Amino acid sequence: MSFTVVLVGRPNVGKSTLFNRLAGKKLALVDDTPGVTRDWRSAPGHVGGLSFTVVDTAGLEDVTDDSLEARMRRQTEQALQRADVALFLIDARAGVTPLDRHFAAILRKMKTPVLLVANKTEGKASKSGLYESFELGLGEPIPLSAEHGEGMADLVQALMPFAKEDTAAPTDEPVEEATGDRPIAIGDQPEPAEDLSKPIQIAIVGRPNVGKSTLLNSLLGEERVLTGPEAGMTRDAISVDWQWRDRRFKLVDTAGMRRRARVDEKVEKLAVADTLRVIRMANVVVLVVDAEAILDKQDLTIARMVIEEGRSLVIAINKWDIVDDRAMALRQVEDKLEAGLGYIKGVKVVTISALKGQKLDTLLDGILATYAVWNRRITTAQLNRWIGGVLDHHPPPLIEGRRVKIRYVTQVKTRPPTFALFVNKPLDLPESYQRYLIADMRNTFDLPGVPLRLLLRKGK
Ligand code: GDP
Ligand code: GDP
Repeated sequence: MSFTVVLVGRPNVGKSTLFNRLAGKKLALVDDTPGVTRDWRSAPGHVGGLSFTVVDTAGLEDVTDDSLEARMRRQTEQALQRADVALFLIDARAGVTPLDRHFAAILRKMKTPVLLVANKTEGKASKSGLYESFELGLGEPIPLSAEHGEGMADLVQALMPFAKEDTAAPTDEPVEEATGDRPIAIGDQPEPAEDLSKPIQIAIVGRPNVGKSTLLNSLLGEERVLTGPEAGMTRDAISVDWQWRDRRFKLVDTAGMRRRARVDEKVEKLAVADTLRVIRMANVVVLVVDAEAILDKQDLTIARMVIEEGRSLVIAINKWDIVDDRAMALRQVEDKLEAGLGYIKGVKVVTISALKGQKLDTLLDGILATYAVWNRRITTAQLNRWIGGVLDHHPPPLIEGRRVKIRYVTQVKTRPPTFALFVNKPLDLPESYQRYLIADMRNTFDLPGVPLRLLLRKGK
């Protein structure tokens, strides 16, 4: 059993673009002219392991009799009646318009649950629209770029509760018949994407004094940490288990906690070996950084270590409570990430106050979302459809007049997602092209913020 998601919103906010992305179609029907007439379309939609029916209401506003308002109301009401959940799109670049408000007023009265989506949020021009959209009274907006495929993980998280039991399992289409000389996938049986009963191993890392132990205390509760028999007593890894909502977590190292006892160690240099050891024990690494000294060189070094070790990364900007100019701080974060970690798009960044216990739920949500991507599995059929398109539009460059032949691609591993690419001459595939493939794969399959690995294999 699938569920139904309907896309509503005024013309030109990006409904069709999102529809195409969810339905996995080429962006052929999108048009810049508002209200280009189209049929009421519905199609099977897939994103992040969820399967559903997606209904696009774009174009319905173009009927010529009747007032626009009346038509919109009718159209929206009809569409909503068939849906389990509505995605109400606004254009974050344009900000909130009177028509958006009108729509919101209709939606607030309906029984169907509504998720507010602030579309076109790639880049910076969209921030104000994003904040404005809170005023619509439909909760926190999900920032999205339908065109660039950004923010899809958040969308998945938001849709998850509407998935009926068996659709929440990873969708695995039958693997396409291997044709001609393509090798048949071995070991390509889909494995469960994510075992929800296993605790998620988390490490909290960062420079001295950024607030790691404070965060720990806030997450676990003051008492537990300070009275624990381990505190400050051993150099060995300590682990603490806890639960949040229905998920189990295991904190694999509590370096900050141990350091508590030795205030003088606050001035110690970042112990790289220690940090590396901790990173290796974790699934998700939370890098705590100080909002007053955002993402300096040492922070970025740790971030890169996390990625190189194949772990998933979440960045917590701590001490947000004492930041005066938050907009500027956010801009700084974006710039530093782009400059220092630009090759891995979509790293989750959460602003928190460990001291005041603010936004810790958002942090944990971010951890869960990143962990889910880290566990993602993509079918061989999907991958080969993707590589087929890539080879059509952006084939590998010629090397001494010859082109390397890419035969086949399959995912060999999760945690992190790892792919084997079978080519005739692995050594001749330029590194820049491999980077291009990874970036395109990240975008196409919506794999933000985690390391992706590409293994080159020789295959005829
Ligand atoms: P609809 O009328 O709501 O179906 O909107 P469309 O999907 O036709 O999109 C309207 C315009 O917005 C098109 O020019 C799209 O290319 C553009 N658009 C859609 N999504 C995005 C996005 O995420 N970012 C940007 N910058 N433009 C987008
Ligand atoms: P650690 O060395 O990374 O474990 O850092 P600590 O947790 O010991 O924190 C260092 C200092 O920063 C302490 O004085 C904390 O009270 C302070 N601190 C930690 N988190 C916050 C926060 O969210 N806001 C503010 N204003 N101060 C914080």
